[in-house]
Amino acid sequence: MGIVLIWSLIVALIRWITSKRRGAISYDSSDQTALYIRMLGDVRVRSRLGFEPERRGSHPYLYIDFRILHSRPESAGPLSARKVRRLLSFQRYLHSSRFFRGAPPQNPLYILDDDYTGQAKCMLEKVGSWNFDIFLFDRLTNGNSLVSLTFHLFNQYGLIDLFQLDMVKLRRFLVMVQEDYHSQNPYHNAVHAADVTQAMHCYLKEPKLSKSLTSWDILLGLLAAATHDLDHPGVNQPFLIKTNHYLAALYKNTSVLENHHWRSAVGLLRESGLFAHLPVEDRLKMESQLGSLILATDISRQNDYLAQFRTHLDKGDLCLGNAGHRHFILQMALKCADICNPCRPWRLSKQWSEKVTEEFFHQGDIEKKYKLDVSPLCDSQTDTVENIQIGFMTYVAEPLFVEWGRFSDTRLSQTMLGYLGLNKASWRGKLQEQTSSGDDTDPALEETDSEVLPQGSKEL
Ligand SMILES: [Zn+2]
Repeated sequence: MGIVLIWSLIVALIRWITSKRRGAISYDSSDQTALYIRMLGDVRVRSRLGFEPERRGSHPYLYIDFRILHSRPESAGPLSARKVRRLLSFQRYLHSSRFFRGAPPQNPLYILDDDYTGQAKCMLEKVGSWNFDIFLFDRLTNGNSLVSLTFHLFNQYGLIDLFQLDMVKLRRFLVMVQEDYHSQNPYHNAVHAADVTQAMHCYLKEPKLSKSLTSWDILLGLLAAATHDLDHPGVNQPFLIKTNHYLAALYKNTSVLENHHWRSAVGLLRESGLFAHLPVEDRLKMESQLGSLILATDISRQNDYLAQFRTHLDKGDLCLGNAGHRHFILQMALKCADICNPCRPWRLSKQWSEKVTEEFFHQGDIEKKYKLDVSPLCDSQTDTVENIQIGFMTYVAEPLFVEWGRFSDTRLSQTMLGYLGLNKASWRGKLQEQTSSGDDTDPALEETDSEVLPQGSKEL
């Protein structure tokens, strides 16, 4: 009897431990997609570490691990501890770093001297400035710009108190979000997410929005900005489709990346338990609205959103007392935040342009290597950063920011359009420099550096 009793106790204990561990990740059917993604991540890790990859189809490119493709040549060789941690996907959530997340002694900020931490804090005092240098802030926070900035904004908007958020859970959630961005991506990494979140904050402060948005709207806007490119592989949707990537199959070739960012964000929200204390209807509503915001960043649907925006502005029927209209404005604000690089001061805008071009060309190099058609804008031999930027500004950014300026006719909107025009002139100047023989360069074009001309931007 004694042995039976002890055995029953052991079985009960194992069941209890298993149920506790599962409690962190919801296993209900609607969460299967997020779980499926994690499981595939696990397969990739095992494959990299020498296990047989699980077969999921017949196409050879199905097994491309973009994280490995994007690693720099000098980083080849044995896996460093950091890389293993980065690659650990499913295991990471269940075992290792769960213990460390949010534990103050692990915070890299602690190894920085007080001066650096002080400077980062000092920068946060001007977090609403359109000239905010996110690259500098990222260096000062030792690569933790997304965690530091988003946590600060949650606190500043009073969201922690209003939604009774557990600060340890919030920090843990933000660390998970930051970790799930690929630091190897030149552009779609956590610094871009931090930049979009900072821009979103600038828009949320605009008079029309600040007087009508609810705390719920602000919470969603910031969450969507921070997670909108989560786990971005550094290649675009057409690439995923033509290589029969599992994500393209999973989301039926429609807003593949955006659906993945959304479902990944939902997975992390559920895992962190950040809103576990809210009624289930509110949590489901939050997940659904988060999806609708993130899906709006699909650039291939830009014209639909723009047409809708124009119709509202022409009719003058936007009523921000209406929750649906407020949500639409949040979608437009997130779209603007996502592609606001050309509207930043030249010194920031130029860096973003170079980074995105590097990512495009890297995709082109992979396509060449695997004898695939090189995607538009991705050929380093025929495309240039100048041409890519001028086209993007003319056909994508300008039409959007012109309409945003009609909706929110403020100094910020004017400043953004001002920088957009100046930056475009700068790229045109560079293009002309390259095509001219050299001695007939118009000196006036040298003057188009937008650092010289912004009006009223210092105060923003
Ligand atoms: Zn983005």
